[in-house]
Amino acid sequence: MGSPSSASQLREDPSKPLLHPTSSTRRYRTTLFCSCLVLLALVAVAIASTASSRSASAPTARPPSKLSRPVVIIVSADGFRFGYQFKTQTPNIRQLIAAGTEAEEGLIPVFPSLTFPNHYSIATGLYPPYHGIINNYFTDPVTGDWFTTASHEPHWWLGEPLWQTAAAQGVAAATYFWPGSEVIKGSWTCPPKFCPKYNGSVPFEQRVDTLLGFFDLPSGEIPALMMLYLEQPDLQGHELGPDDPEVTKAVARVDQMIGRLIAGLERRGIFEDVTMIMLGDHGMVGVCRKKTIFLDDLAPWVQIPESWVQSYSPLLAIRPPAEVSSSEVVAKMNEGLSSGKVENGEYLRMFLKEDLPERLHYSASSRIPPIIGMLGEAYTVVQNRTSEFSECGGAHGYDNALFSMRTIFIAHGPRFERGRKIPSFKNVEIYNLVTTILNLNGAPNNGSASFPNSVLLPST
Ligand SMILES: [Zn+2]
Repeated sequence: MGSPSSASQLREDPSKPLLHPTSSTRRYRTTLFCSCLVLLALVAVAIASTASSRSASAPTARPPSKLSRPVVIIVSADGFRFGYQFKTQTPNIRQLIAAGTEAEEGLIPVFPSLTFPNHYSIATGLYPPYHGIINNYFTDPVTGDWFTTASHEPHWWLGEPLWQTAAAQGVAAATYFWPGSEVIKGSWTCPPKFCPKYNGSVPFEQRVDTLLGFFDLPSGEIPALMMLYLEQPDLQGHELGPDDPEVTKAVARVDQMIGRLIAGLERRGIFEDVTMIMLGDHGMVGVCRKKTIFLDDLAPWVQIPESWVQSYSPLLAIRPPAEVSSSEVVAKMNEGLSSGKVENGEYLRMFLKEDLPERLHYSASSRIPPIIGMLGEAYTVVQNRTSEFSECGGAHGYDNALFSMRTIFIAHGPRFERGRKIPSFKNVEIYNLVTTILNLNGAPNNGSASFPNSVLLPST
C-alpha cells in the first residue's frame, strides 16, 4: 500500500485527465494520494456497515392492516410516454414514485408499440405472436375474417390473461375497459358487475369511483385484481403531438385520477394495504408530413397495390397474393428505398417477417403478414400523395427499442420498497409480477421466472 508505483499509476490514469502532475506538484500529489487512501478506507467502512445493517434489517413486505388478502389495482394511462410526468405538476404520481418503486427510465413496450398488442401483453405476459393480437387491426389469413378492436370472439385472443388466471383459481377480478377483458374465455365470464362493456364516454371519475366502491363490499367479495383503462393522454398525443399543451392538460387529468384513487383508498384506511400499479401501454412521438414515404414512389421497382397492405404506419404490413414472391417484393422495395431516388426512402427498410431482428419477437404467427417494414422514428408511410393525413400530430407503433416509445411503471404497495428505482424492463414481465403478489399459479408466458423476486420485497 502506498508504494510509489501505485502513486505513479494513479498519476497516469488516463481516466483522470484533469491531473497533469509536474515536479512542483509532488507534495500535492502525495497529500492527494494519502487523502484518497483515507477516503477509500472510510468508504469501505461505510459499505461494510451498510451491508451489515441491511442483512440485519433487510426490508420485507409490510403486513396488511385491514385487507384479508392482497389486492392489486393496475391503472393504464394510454400513450403516457415516459417523461410526461415532468410536463407539469403531478403531485399524485410523484407521491406514488416517492413511496413506491419506479422503473427509472420507463417501461418497455412490446413490438409493435400499439395499444391492443401491448395491453394484452401486459395482461398475458406473452409477446403478440403468442397472444394473437398482433396489431390493432388485422386479417386472419385462413378465414379471411377481420379483427378490429371491437372483436370479442375468443378465438382471436390467445393465452391466459390475468383476470382469467384469477377466475380459474376462484379469485374475483374486475376489469374496467381493459382491452380483451370483455372476451368470455375459460373461467372468465366477464360478469356485468365487475366487467362493464366498453363505452369511452364514461367519465374517468365514474371509473375510479366504481373501483373504490368494490372495497365497500363484504371482505370476501372484494376483487383481488382490478384493471382500469384510461384513454388519455393518447388521444391528445395523436391529434396534436406529444408537446402540445393539450397533452399536458391530459397528463394533469390522469394525475387527478390517481389522486382520486389514492384519496379513496386513504379514506378507507387501505392505501398501504393495496398494491397500486400505474403504467401505460406505449409512448408517443411527434410526426409531420414532411417525414413521409409514399409507396407509389416505388412503382419503378415494384407496384404495391393498396389491396396488399394490411396496415400502413408506423407498422407497414404487406400480404401479397399467394402467387407473388414475398422475397422478391422485399428485395425490389429495398432496392428502390436505398436508391436515393425515393423521398425519405432511407427511413424505411423492408423485411420478410422471419428476418426481422429476433429482439422484436414478431414472426411466430400466421396472422403476421409475410412482409414487415421498419420505419424510422417519426416517419410515416402512406400510399401516395393524395392519401389523407394531417400536417402534424403524434404516432406510436415504432421499434420498441426507441426511447420515445417507452411508458411509465410505478408500483406502490406492501411488497414494493419505498423510493426504489429499478432498471427498465419489458411489459411481458408484469404478468408474473402480479400473479406472485396475488399468490396465483401463473400460466406459461414470456416473462422471466426470476423477475418478481428481483423487484418485490420478500413476503414475511
Ligand atoms: Zn395506446
